[in-house]
Order: sequence, then C-alpha cells, then structure tokens
Amino acid sequence: MPEYILALDQGTTSSRAILFDRQGQPVASAGHPIRQIYPQSGWVEHDPQEIWESQLASAREVLEAAGARASQVAAIGITNQRETTILWDRQTGEPLANAIVWQCRRTAPLCQELKERGLEPSFRQKTGLVIDPYFSGTKVAWMLDNIPGARARAERGDLLFGTVDCWLLYKLTGGRVHATDYTNASRTLMFNISRLAWDEEALSELAVPSSLLPTVLPSCGVFGQAEPSLLGAALPIAGIAGDQQAALFGQACFQVGMGKNTYGTGCFVLMNVGHDSLPLGSSLVTTIAWGLGQGVEYALEGSIFIAGAAVQWLRDGLGLIATAAESEALAASVPSSDGVYVVPAFVGLGAPHWDPRARGTIVGITRGTTRAHLVRATLEAIAFQTRDVIETMESECALTLPELRVDGGAVANDLLMQIQADILGREVVRPAVTETTALGAAYLAGLAVGCWQGQDELTGKWRVDRRFQPQMDASQRDELYQGWKRAVERAKGWASE
Ligand code: ADP
Repeated sequence: MPEYILALDQGTTSSRAILFDRQGQPVASAGHPIRQIYPQSGWVEHDPQEIWESQLASAREVLEAAGARASQVAAIGITNQRETTILWDRQTGEPLANAIVWQCRRTAPLCQELKERGLEPSFRQKTGLVIDPYFSGTKVAWMLDNIPGARARAERGDLLFGTVDCWLLYKLTGGRVHATDYTNASRTLMFNISRLAWDEEALSELAVPSSLLPTVLPSCGVFGQAEPSLLGAALPIAGIAGDQQAALFGQACFQVGMGKNTYGTGCFVLMNVGHDSLPLGSSLVTTIAWGLGQGVEYALEGSIFIAGAAVQWLRDGLGLIATAAESEALAASVPSSDGVYVVPAFVGLGAPHWDPRARGTIVGITRGTTRAHLVRATLEAIAFQTRDVIETMESECALTLPELRVDGGAVANDLLMQIQADILGREVVRPAVTETTALGAAYLAGLAVGCWQGQDELTGKWRVDRRFQPQMDASQRDELYQGWKRAVERAKGWASE
C-alpha cells in the first residue's frame, strides 16, 4: 500500500498542498498565495485559472519537497474555500469570468428581493441556510444575468457551474468529471439538505437551469482519477469536503455534541448534530458535516467574521504590536483588561447577531487604559464572540459541548486559549496537529482507499497537545460576560446604511 495521502487545501488567500503519512502526520507542505481582485467596493473575485495553476504547482512541489513519487501516493483529498462560484464552458473548459468569492456582497440587492418576496423561511427549511450573498445560489444567478450571452448558453446546456472543489476535480480529471460532495453542495442555497438532491423550487426561484449543476457524491469515495500527465500517475481523488467541515472531520468530532472552533481571519464554530437536520431558530445555519456512504451527518455552524483579523488590525491599523504573536506577551503584562471591551464588528456582526450595521466599538476606556489593555480586550473579544455562538448552539439544539477542540493560526496563542477556557467555563483542547483542514481531507481520501479502517482508527490518531482548564471563578466570568453583552448592544445598528 502506498505510504502517503496528498491533501489539496485551496483557501481564500492561498493554494496549499500537504503530504500526510499513514500515521496522519504532515510530512511536507507547499503553497502559493492567490491574487485578491476587488473590482468595486464590496466585490471580491479570484481568477479560476490561477486557482488551478497554483494548486497544481503546490501539489507538484510538495511531492518534490518530500522526495516522493506519485506511485507512493494512495489518494488525493480536496478541501476548499466554500461558496465561491465558477461558471465554465462544457466543451472548452474555459471559465466565463472570474470566480465570485464567498466574501463578495454584489448580490445583496437580489437577496433583499428574495427576502421581500417572503422566501426566507422556505429556503431555510430546504437548504438550512439564510438568504445572504455569502452563499453560491445568488452568485450563479448574477453571472447568468450579467455576463453577456451567459443565460442563453446555459439554457442550451453549454455551461457548467461548480464550487472550487468541483472546478479542481474537473481540471484534475482532464474535464471528465463534473461532481461535488455533499458538504460543498450544502453551501449553495440550491441543495435540499434533507432530500439530498438539488431543489427544483429553489432553482426556479433563483432562475438557475439544472443542466449547470454537478453530480453530488459522498465526501468519502472515489470521484475520479487524475490525468496521469499532471502528477505522474492516475491517482484517485477519493475525498472532498469544504474547509470547515474538513476541519471538523480532522478534529475527529465524530460523536453528536462534539465541536470545534477554527481561529483564523474569522472564527467558525461547528458542532456535530448527527443524522437529523434540525429545525432551527434564526441565528445559526445547518450544514452537511459529511456523507460517508449512505446518508449524511449534519452540523450546526456559527460564523464569526472577525477574529484573528482584529489582531491584524492591532498590528497594521493601530501599530500597537509588531507581530500577531506579540499580542500574547503584551496582553499578559496586565492582569485584566480593566473594564475595557473591544467589539470588532468591522464588517457588521455575523452569528448569532447578524447585524450588518454594527460597527467596531471600544467602551470602558479610562485615563488608566494602556495599549496592553486594548490588546487584552481584543483577545477577550475573540473568546466572547465564541461564547455567544456556543451558547446559542446549545440552546437551539439542546446539546452540551463537553470540551472545545480548537485549530487555526491563532491557537498558537496560549493566553488566548486560557482566556477562552475561562470565558467559556469549559476545557479548551488544542490537538498536536493543528492543520486539521488538510488533515480532514486526507482522512476522507484515505478512508475511501482503505488506508485506514474506519472512524475509530482516526479517533485513535487524534492527539492532544495541550488542555486549557478554566481557572476563573464563576462570578467573575459572569460579570465579564454581562459587560460584553452591554458592549455588543452599543456596537449594534451604528452604520446608517
Ligand atoms: P486564515 O486561514 O483565515 O488565513 P490562519 O489560520 O492562517 O488564518 O490564522 C491567521 C490569523 O491568526 C491571522 O488573522 C492572525 O492575526 C492570527 N494570529 C496568528 N498568530 C496569532 C497569535 N499568536 N495570537 C493571536 N492571533 C494570531
């Protein structure tokens, strides 16, 4: 049996490739940043060819870096930035335009129109999502209506739609396979997450012809074989999942009630809720966690837009620190934030508040406030936002998270992790491998080709680096959290547009 699994991790800011061994340990990695294209305020695009070429280059480089031949690779797993939308020509494989990225707000007017027509409850019930420009459906509709000739070509059956996983799969297989997995389909606003099929009614409301759509397959299973000329062998592409679901899988959150938080630019909290998609309140979305064969499992998801990005702002916007890592020592130089709260609502607030008009706010400043207090209050804000989401999750699904598994770039900050345990009043657990997104994709692919026997074996591989126990007493925790809630109220509804 070949000894490696190749994970392709196509993210918002870079395309990376990581080679994992049979123990699930990363052996080598390679990556390339990708260009962010901002044609207008609030619009974000990527070049699909650049996505493909940078991903292919990373895959070739990681093999070279490890001194591995393609014959030593058992399978390829793909994980990707979700929701980003690409249309291309069925015959030539040429993209019609740049990809519309998940962050792009250009379809806000269309979303508004759909909401005014009272369609939100039905979309929510079928797709698990809220009507928001974030998801793919309105992006496809926008392309069909705004790229000259696109709608006519789509109606003739000449075009294909795909999220980034689907595009990479198509390119890797030399245009032979047009498919996606359940997790990515569940972010399109067009997929019925209970019936596990494209939803005719949603498609008709969005005016998207079904001929565009890829086949939807389980996240774990062989999707196709890579063109031998690309990497040196006809490697099976055997696992696909969107980045946040892949991280949940990589964290081995296989039991109902287990959850993880990824601390990157934003924070994404996902909790495994099992085989039933839940009827929901209005604060979170339901998403497919993965499909391993027959049927799927679901997750509740809370997306926090600004987390590590607030630390970047301390560095680049305010110049209070020289590196993100420096935030730890500076925050640790004071015993508390001394009543200061920073609400980093720079682009409004996501889950559970969903207030696009909220704006960044700092309250509680006195003459004694120093930059150390501001930095500490910013780290606390990441932890408070996470508590907001987790409390909402627990009350919506009547489950209690026993511990919080964490990953992402900012989990290197021990103080942040301790603050999180204190504010949550629960254990925070950092695993030994924090590249959980790529690991999740490798696990899905490796399971499909028999590298690992099943989820129990993967559970056995998950290793703790460090556990952070809550140390703060309950009354202090409550007092701090009440202060946060008051600060959030001050931040809401600020922008007039
Ligand atoms: P993404 O995948 O969203 O680009 P990463 O997982 O690479 O993000 O994490 C990078 C983010 O984490 C940045 O926003 C950065 O400010 C933050 N970060 C990195 N190291 C630290 C640290 N030691 N303390 C606090 N924040 C950090």
